[in-house]
Amino acid sequence: MKNVGKFFQTIGKKLPFLKSLKFRIFLLCFLMSIIPSLVLYYSVLKNYEKRVVSVRESEAQTQLRVLANHLILYGYLEDPASEIVNAELAQFSSFYDGRVLVIDSNLKVIKDTYDMSTGKTAVSEDIVNCLLKGSKAATARYDRQDSYIEVIMPISETASLEDADYSGEDVQETVHGVLLASVSTETVRTTLELLRRRAELLNIIMGLVCFTLSLLLSELLVRPFEKLTTKISAVRAGYSSDPVEVHDYLETEHIVDAFNEVLGRMRALDESRQEFVSNVSHELKTPMTSMKVLADSLLADPNTPPEMYREFLTDIDNEIDRENKIIAELLNLAKMDRRQVPMNISTVNINALLEIIMKRVRPLAQQRDIELTLISERDVTAEVDEVKMTMVFTNLIENAVKYNKEHGTVKVTINSDARNFILTVEDTGIGIPEESQGRVFERFYRVDKSRSREVGGTGLGLSITKSAVLLHRGTIELTSKVGEGSTFKVTIPLSYIRVPDQDTAAGQQHANPIH
Ligand code: ADP
Repeated sequence: MKNVGKFFQTIGKKLPFLKSLKFRIFLLCFLMSIIPSLVLYYSVLKNYEKRVVSVRESEAQTQLRVLANHLILYGYLEDPASEIVNAELAQFSSFYDGRVLVIDSNLKVIKDTYDMSTGKTAVSEDIVNCLLKGSKAATARYDRQDSYIEVIMPISETASLEDADYSGEDVQETVHGVLLASVSTETVRTTLELLRRRAELLNIIMGLVCFTLSLLLSELLVRPFEKLTTKISAVRAGYSSDPVEVHDYLETEHIVDAFNEVLGRMRALDESRQEFVSNVSHELKTPMTSMKVLADSLLADPNTPPEMYREFLTDIDNEIDRENKIIAELLNLAKMDRRQVPMNISTVNINALLEIIMKRVRPLAQQRDIELTLISERDVTAEVDEVKMTMVFTNLIENAVKYNKEHGTVKVTINSDARNFILTVEDTGIGIPEESQGRVFERFYRVDKSRSREVGGTGLGLSITKSAVLLHRGTIELTSKVGEGSTFKVTIPLSYIRVPDQDTAAGQQHANPIH
């Protein structure tokens, strides 16, 4: 099967037109229309010949049987002078355009309608057989080559047997001689020849009609695909940006739907790329503008007191930190958006890792009297990329503190089942409005820009978090209520699932513009 496939592939490469749908449809239509007419042509001619020959054979046999009876009746074998019988023999001979030989039991020809063999001895296996076996050995043989039928008929008498002891056939045949006749089939041949010529002409006309129709049909049937190619080419060349529409076939509709979907995705990708570039420029420009304003105001007044200098320089320093943070996070995202993200997988004690992170975040929580608790339902060790997992945990716990109310609480719970570990970070903070819940994972999306800025946010944290979770083939879910708080639930497989060429999955899910 494989070899057959390979064979067709090589043929297709050598003769590219064989791969053309148009050619295949043409060939199929042409063959399907021409083959039945050819089959019909040959079978009709063959059947006609068979039928005519068999009718002629049985006619001749019946006639000869009557003749044989007359031969017996008129004692022709003893005295071949009977005019009636001779006339009948001549009539048969002329009617069938053939020759009749009357042969007696000594194989002597006592009458030949052609008068060529009278008196001679006729020896042939069929004649001897017929003499010995009677009607059972009567034969009729068609010689196609020389256009005649040879019939052998016994000249015999039959007597009914009334003897009860006789245990065989109930008639007894006494063979006195044999009739050997040749019946011409010349008329059959000429009629056949005539029919064949007509049929051939008809076939040629049919062939031409089928050829033209098949050509037209293949052209018509393939036209929607050509239309499709033209439209897709127009989109590719940039003449058109409208969705492609070719409704002629269900198949073209499917192709068009798939193409339009890809087109839509590419457009979305393009838009998100543009949006991202403008967001990045804006985000990077904001700290720059602040620094410029601060520096300009210092330069404008040569008598600025040293405390003011210190204050402004501290602000500039903060802006530089912010700028650095944005750049560092952008780099993090860029790393995770690569086609092949390197995953540094090791077995990590998740509880211990969480404790370290909690310790780091605690001072921030204490500043606003936020209670930070870690509930370890189970001891969890999992195969993860420790650096990326640290980013996930830190971002979620830091956000829970950053967007919390004063004296609020943050509850971090770690649990596991047979396949995954589950981390929930629950806070009693400001919450996220329903319409923003689906968007907080987008780059630079912030529910309240000024609040995020105040707490040192860049709008990239959750985007990085989601990418890292997806790289671990995990999921992240958010439930939140404004004014009551938010819960982020992260589910990660305990064993890292290695799928070849799949490390790109996370990056691609975002239609990511950073490369
Ligand atoms: P940022 O650096 O601004 O915190 P993130 O990507 O981490 O960016 O978060 C995006 C936005 O989602 C935040 O600006 C904030 O509006 C909202 N957000 C994230 N976590 C929480 C939370 N725990 N409670 C309320 N809002 C949150």
